[in-house]
Amino acid sequence: MASNPDLFPDMERMAAVEDLVTARLADARSQYRQRPALPEPPTQSWFDNLADFDFEHPQDLQPLLDWSIDALETGMVHTTHPHHIGLFNPAPTFPAECADRLVNAYNPQVCFWSAAPKLVAIEEHVLRQVAQRAGLPRQTAGHFTSGGSEANATALWCALTAVEPRFGQDGVAAFAGPPVIYTSCESHLAWVKLAHTTGLGRNAVRLVATDGHGRMDTLALEREIQTDLSLGHVPVLIAATAGTTNAGMIDPLSACADLAEAYGMWCHVDAAWAGALIASPTRRAALAGMERAHSVTIDGHKWFAMTMGAGMILVTRPEILEQTFDIDTMYMPDDEGSTNYYRTSTQWSRRFVGLRMFLSLANAGWSGYAAHVDHAIALIDRLVDTLTKAGWHLANESPAAVACLVPPEGPESVDRYLTAALEQGGFWISKAKLDGVPMLRFCVTNGRTQATDIDTLAQFLKSQMYETA
Ligand SMILES: *Cc1c(COP(=O)(O)O)cnc(C)c1O
Repeated sequence: MASNPDLFPDMERMAAVEDLVTARLADARSQYRQRPALPEPPTQSWFDNLADFDFEHPQDLQPLLDWSIDALETGMVHTTHPHHIGLFNPAPTFPAECADRLVNAYNPQVCFWSAAPKLVAIEEHVLRQVAQRAGLPRQTAGHFTSGGSEANATALWCALTAVEPRFGQDGVAAFAGPPVIYTSCESHLAWVKLAHTTGLGRNAVRLVATDGHGRMDTLALEREIQTDLSLGHVPVLIAATAGTTNAGMIDPLSACADLAEAYGMWCHVDAAWAGALIASPTRRAALAGMERAHSVTIDGHKWFAMTMGAGMILVTRPEILEQTFDIDTMYMPDDEGSTNYYRTSTQWSRRFVGLRMFLSLANAGWSGYAAHVDHAIALIDRLVDTLTKAGWHLANESPAAVACLVPPEGPESVDRYLTAALEQGGFWISKAKLDGVPMLRFCVTNGRTQATDIDTLAQFLKSQMYETA
C-alpha cells in the first residue's frame, strides 16, 4: 500500500491518466495556430475559483488537470504560436519535451557522480561539444544552470575569485579597493542586481556607452577602466554581450578580450541568446573573439529552443570553478576525482536538464540547428525587406534574428502599431528603445513560424499605415 493513493496511484490508474494527458496535449497542440497568442486577463470569477482551493478537501486529479490545462491555454503568452514574434522565449523542440517527460518519471539527482554516473557523463559530453563548437579550449568545463542569470552570476563569482584569490575567505574587503565590473548600457541589466546581491553594490557596475550601433564602445570602456584605476578601484570583469536583448548586437569580443588581458581582468561573454549562432557554419563568424573569453553564457532555453530552465555556463579555467564552489561535507559520498556538480556550481540538488540538449542535438545534429538559426534569420530579413520598402526604418544591423524598426510615421506611432498588432493582428511583438528612441522589435523564436506568417504580419502592419493608398 502506498502512503497515499492520490499521490502514489496504482499503475493502472497512472496509465489511464497519462493517456488522457497525452490526448489532451495532442488536442492542445493541434490548436497552436487557432488559439490567440495572447492571454486572457484573469476575471474575478477565475480568482474566486482559485481561492476556493483551500486544500482542505482532496479532489479528483482528472478535473484538476482539465482546470490546469485551461489555465495554460488561456493564461499565457503562447510562444508555440507561430505569430509569437517576441522576446527570446522559444517554442520548445519536441526532443526537449520528450526529455522532460522521461526525466520527470525518473527524477534523477545529478549533483554528484555516483548518484547518476551515466547521466552526469551525458551532460559533460553535451557541454564539451557545445564548448568545442564555440571554439573554446579543450579544458573548458561548465554546467547547466537555471538560465542566463545564474550563468552570469557564476561568471561574476569566478571573476572575483580569479582576480583576488582571497575573495573567497575575506569577501569584497579582500580587494585593494572597491571592485568594479564593466558591461555595456545595452547589456542584460541583470548585472546590476548581481552586483547588489554579490555585495559589490549597484554602483560597482559601469554601464559603458555604445558606439552608435548598440555595441560596447571599447574606447569608452578603456577610458572608464583608467579612470577607475586612478580612483583606486579594482577592475574585475568585462562582461561583453553577444546578442543584446534589445537589438541582437554583438560587442567587439576580441577588443574586450584584449582589454581584459591588458588590465588583468576576467573576460565573460554573455551569449545567452545569440550563442546559437555557433550552429551555423555561415553565421558563426559573427561570434569571433568569443573563444578568447574566460567564460561564456549560452542559454538552452533561448535560441536552442529548450524548455525553460536550461542555461549553460562554460568556464575555460575549471580550477576557478572548483575554488569558487568547493565544499567538503560529511554527508555527501566521497566521489573524489569525478564530476560533482555540487562542488563546481551554486546549485545543490540538480535536475537532469542536459538530456534536452542531448536529445535535440543528437536527433537534429548541428546541421539541424544551423537550419533552425538560418530559417529565423531569413524570416527576419524577409520582414525587414518588405517593411523598409514600405518606408520603415531599420535601426539595428544584427547578424541574428532580431529587427528593430521605426514606422514611417516616426517613433511616436510605435505604441499605436504595437496595440494594433497585439489586439487586432493577433501577433505578439514587443517594443524596444535604442538610444532613447522607441521602436518595434521583431524576433523569430519559433521554429514553426513560416514565410506566410511573416507576410501576414507585414501586410497587417502596412494596413495600419496612415499613408496607405
Ligand atoms: C535572457 C538573457 C539573460 C537572462 O537569462 P535568463 O535565462 O532569463 O536568466 C541574460 N543575458 C542575455 C543576453 C539574455 O538574452
